[in-house]
Amino acid sequence: MSREFYKENKISILNSLNSDSDQGLNKTQVEKKREKFGLNKLQEKRGVSVWQILLNQLKDLIIIILIIAAVLAFLIGDTLEGYAILAVIVFNTIIGFVTEYRAQKAVASLKNVLSKKALVIRDGKKQEIEAVDLVPGDIIFIEEGDQIPADARLIDTNNLTVNEASLTGESESVAKEAEAQFDSKKTLAERNNMVYMGTTAARGKGKAVVTAIAEETEIGKIGAMLDETKEGKTPLEKRLERLGKSLIKITLAVIAVLTILGIFMGRPVYDTVKTGIALAIAAVPEGLPIIATVTLAIGMKKMVEHNALVRELLAVETLGSVTSICTDKTGTITENQMTLRKIYLNDHLIEISGTGYQPEGDFLLAGEKIEPAVEAGLELTLKSGLLCTSAELTKEDGAYKVLGEATEGALLTAGRKAGFSKESLKNKGYQKLAEIPFNSDYMYMAVSYALPEGKEHLYLKGSPDVVLEMCDSIMLNGEQKELTAAKINEIQQKNKKLGEEGLRILGVAYKEGKNLDSEEKLQTEIKSSLTFLALSAIIDPPRESVKEAIKETKKAGIKTKMITGDQMDTAAAIAREVGITDSDSVISGQQISQASAEELRELIKNNSVFSRVTPENKLQIIDALNQEEEITAMTGDGVNDAPALKKADIGVSMGKRGTTVAREASDMVLLDDDFATIVTAVREGRVIFDNIQKFIYFLFSNNLSKIIYIFLGIIFNLPLPLLAMQILWINVVIDVFPALSLAWEKEENNIMGREATTERNIMNRAFKKKVSLHSLILAAGPMLLYLWSLNADYSLELSRTLSFAALSFIQLFHVFNARRKSGLAFDKTLLENYYLWLAVGIGIVFQLAAIYLGPLQKILSTVAIPIELLLPTAAAIILPMFLIQLMNIFAGRDKK
Ligand code: ATP
Repeated sequence: MSREFYKENKISILNSLNSDSDQGLNKTQVEKKREKFGLNKLQEKRGVSVWQILLNQLKDLIIIILIIAAVLAFLIGDTLEGYAILAVIVFNTIIGFVTEYRAQKAVASLKNVLSKKALVIRDGKKQEIEAVDLVPGDIIFIEEGDQIPADARLIDTNNLTVNEASLTGESESVAKEAEAQFDSKKTLAERNNMVYMGTTAARGKGKAVVTAIAEETEIGKIGAMLDETKEGKTPLEKRLERLGKSLIKITLAVIAVLTILGIFMGRPVYDTVKTGIALAIAAVPEGLPIIATVTLAIGMKKMVEHNALVRELLAVETLGSVTSICTDKTGTITENQMTLRKIYLNDHLIEISGTGYQPEGDFLLAGEKIEPAVEAGLELTLKSGLLCTSAELTKEDGAYKVLGEATEGALLTAGRKAGFSKESLKNKGYQKLAEIPFNSDYMYMAVSYALPEGKEHLYLKGSPDVVLEMCDSIMLNGEQKELTAAKINEIQQKNKKLGEEGLRILGVAYKEGKNLDSEEKLQTEIKSSLTFLALSAIIDPPRESVKEAIKETKKAGIKTKMITGDQMDTAAAIAREVGITDSDSVISGQQISQASAEELRELIKNNSVFSRVTPENKLQIIDALNQEEEITAMTGDGVNDAPALKKADIGVSMGKRGTTVAREASDMVLLDDDFATIVTAVREGRVIFDNIQKFIYFLFSNNLSKIIYIFLGIIFNLPLPLLAMQILWINVVIDVFPALSLAWEKEENNIMGREATTERNIMNRAFKKKVSLHSLILAAGPMLLYLWSLNADYSLELSRTLSFAALSFIQLFHVFNARRKSGLAFDKTLLENYYLWLAVGIGIVFQLAAIYLGPLQKILSTVAIPIELLLPTAAAIILPMFLIQLMNIFAGRDKK
């Protein structure tokens, strides 16, 4: 029986695991424990089993039809044909199996791209490590939105609630309490002094000591898995399946009519059955589902190369059709490399030099360097700012890095420039008492400290308007003065001005108090009578890549909406700088909350910048966009963003920043957090959408042309123009590879110049019309050749060989018609897709072998085509090609 940590006292657990809650484990301890316990990794989920994939292939309607055809062939005595069909079944199953297996492997391997991290303390230093490296005894920190990396006993909690649905099925979050004690047996859900691997922190914070890792954890014991990517059939695959089935149904109907007709017309049963078999085979779109999966899987891989990790094949398919992108500002549009630049206090601006998180820089007043201690209130402002943070500044390989929020990193760095750090203040006797963590709903954070001289201080920072509301006095030149309406107005004006420079602004305030040692006490104390200290203005420059990306979205007719929690002026300044808007109009979260459904739709349609937006507003925005039939990608990083991410067509989360909860709710993760990556993914999505449309066009027009071909033969009362074996040959040897090669087609010209439409369906009316017309043209050439040859008294065998050769080549070359959606197929990109040339090359060699090679002649009932007949055959191939090309060129012209 495993140890019941929840019943034990936390001190005794720490002791028994040789750990220390402040220092954590040391390096040698970690190494020893690693040796004993191994890595913190759950067993890989076995994908769908090999047998299952194999069985899937055989369950296919396509295969069933082929089996029936084979049985019929044996019954009417065409043994060779029967075997050939069986061979096709085996071939189809093997190809289907291999490609599906590989595609699934590729999708599964993407899981490892995003490694899970854990925040720990080791050797007395807080650091971020890979979650697989955790060992029992490690001290971990848990923050809102984290996925818990191992089973652990809590040693400190601050309003921590955890969602344990993945383990207990209970969707309500559970409140956790480090101090809870149990002496009787409790169920998992009741053990509120423990946290478990795979569950997620919904709110608050905690510190815990790891008690079990890997298979020893509760989730490991039940063998459940933590999935990084979602699986399942995409709508495209389902739609294709449906389409394939309807094609087959139509053919079955045609066969039925034909058989009845044949019997009435007195045609021999043998002929009728043979035609039926031929038609059934012609209709079967071999390779269709396989190609769909392969194309999507290739897309997924390509996207991850561009830093977009798609968690679901569906997203690959949808990305190309995105019509609007709703993006956060901080970290997505901007660098998230924050530096405190200006402090407004004592009615003037102090500037701070230096870049990034390197704690080197000076304080300047009117361009002159000053000592921070000289300026009244400056040290207090800097101390308040840096103590009121959860982030840490660490040095790794010589560079400073922030563990936690970048905004807070800026305050920690500024403090260090003046010679303060959390550690140095702690050493001087500053002792933390309580904390209200930051939350983007209420937009502030507060802490309380016991000072060495015996006093207690409350420090608060947050959005300036929120902070001003809480203050009734202000610190001016070292004296506490009343915060008059005129002063408030002055500060607001300054705030606006700094915002217009694109700076991110925090108000800082403080208060002296007593017994500030609980969050409840802080909650009452912050309600009023705080003393306003300063405005701290932080620079967070826009990312280099964003301007170009915005230009591209504009060209592509995609609307970009910036939806930020930051204040209006800052939002507008940044949005203008990157080109999202050129107007001053900014809609506030409040306006969104108050608008009626109709007003909201108008507001969203006519504006691009939204400020002070809460996660709830995000949901309203998504709803409104959905009503407008927009296809929307929306970014989010917090726990509360999860519902909006789920509701958006493409929920986008951040790989570097942001919470695991948001990641789990999203369809795509930006590995570099960059807005430009969304645009690249949309571009890639458009290529994939095109390529899917291209191979569907190719396969369907080819199959339909064969059905039309045989049908024409019957209408003209001709001997069967193609034998079942020949059709099988075209379907399997000639068609599949070129279709597959289309998955590697490079992007069309000006792909982002194409207007985004809300068309979700690849197989729309225009597309169906094009397929039908082109099928007819494809069938017409070889049919004319066949008619001419029969008329010219060539033997039936030769005539049929001509017809077979012409149809086969025309279908092979039809891949050139398919490779460009409109315009000329033979352009300068023609040489870029090697696979296409390989497929065509193989096709030509095989087809020539089918006509001229003895053994194949026997199987396919062909005879060598004499030289003098090559010209008419070529004409039957080239003329229809020419016609389709002409139509495509005109279609391309229309669009321009
Ligand atoms: P975006 O939604 O584009 O990411 P954001 O990061 O500015 O924008 P929030 O994180 O919701 O949005 O922040 C809203 C406001 O809260 C900010 O404008 C700032 O004034 C304040 N704020 C941000 N971070 C903190 C923090 N760590 N402590 C206190 N206040 C903060």
